Amino acid sequence: MEWFIERHDGTGFMIRADKKLYEGGTFQKIEIYSTPLGKMLVLDGKIQFTERDEMMYHEMLVHVPMMMHPSPEKVLIIGGGDGGAAREALKHGPSSVTVVEIDAKVVEKCKEYVGIDNGALNDERVNIVYEDGIEFVKNCREHFDVVIVDGTDPNIFSSHIASKQFYEAAMGIADIMVTQSQSPFFQQDYFKAIVKNSAFLKNRRFYISYMPSYPSGLWSFMIAGDYELNEDEIKKRYEERKIKTRHYNAEMHMAAFALPNWMKEMLHD
Ligand code: SAM
Repeated sequence: MEWFIERHDGTGFMIRADKKLYEGGTFQKIEIYSTPLGKMLVLDGKIQFTERDEMMYHEMLVHVPMMMHPSPEKVLIIGGGDGGAAREALKHGPSSVTVVEIDAKVVEKCKEYVGIDNGALNDERVNIVYEDGIEFVKNCREHFDVVIVDGTDPNIFSSHIASKQFYEAAMGIADIMVTQSQSPFFQQDYFKAIVKNSAFLKNRRFYISYMPSYPSGLWSFMIAGDYELNEDEIKKRYEERKIKTRHYNAEMHMAAFALPNWMKEMLHD
């Protein structure tokens, strides 16, 4: 029996790898396995999702900012080559979703072996651009209602999209920006770097959710933009937009912004 283990600080998340469906890639090592939690994407040894839990991550990443915008017509996703974020963004009926992914192989192999995009990556409103996200936002002359950053664990190119320079450029073309900000428990150096690099952003907040197959299971997100909503308003928009989700709801949205004291301390340091 084969086991896949992702290690962090002397601990590990272990999952049975029943079958290796794909291994390859030139830009980064891409592995796709069949596991007890469904198909699983691994990039450079780090689990990106399993089919069973990916909705917990993608729904919280996407619906929190999309719901806060009164009319999210134009959406930009940086990273997200698996198509999970694009699938969720389309539920709000935008006119366009631009996905900027640095590695074309992730898109190709996720379509071929996984399919969590539910066809979103072939939707006529979705345009995929193969480029480094930082170059795209620096040269971009368009405005987006919502920018969603769905990047990988810290590495040489994902750190570009967690830099101050990136946040400045991204916020310059967006009403609302959200980024996943890793495990605040196991990846504190990276989390603190995001806190520091984004400190200048107006109305910046962090929120959390769970994601069983990620290090510690506790995941964080950073959002910036001038919109506030109460629970009743979120419920109303959810109904009006006829959204169906398995994890996200108005109560989860509000509760996600309640942070434990040890995280608040990291934010104030
Ligand atoms: N949900 C995942 C997580 O947090 O573990 C992220 C999944 S998604 C597959 C991440 C994608 O971001 C990868 O396909 C990777 O190639 C892409 N990516 C990383 N750095 C990037 C950059 N600088 N510009 C554009 N895409 C990038």
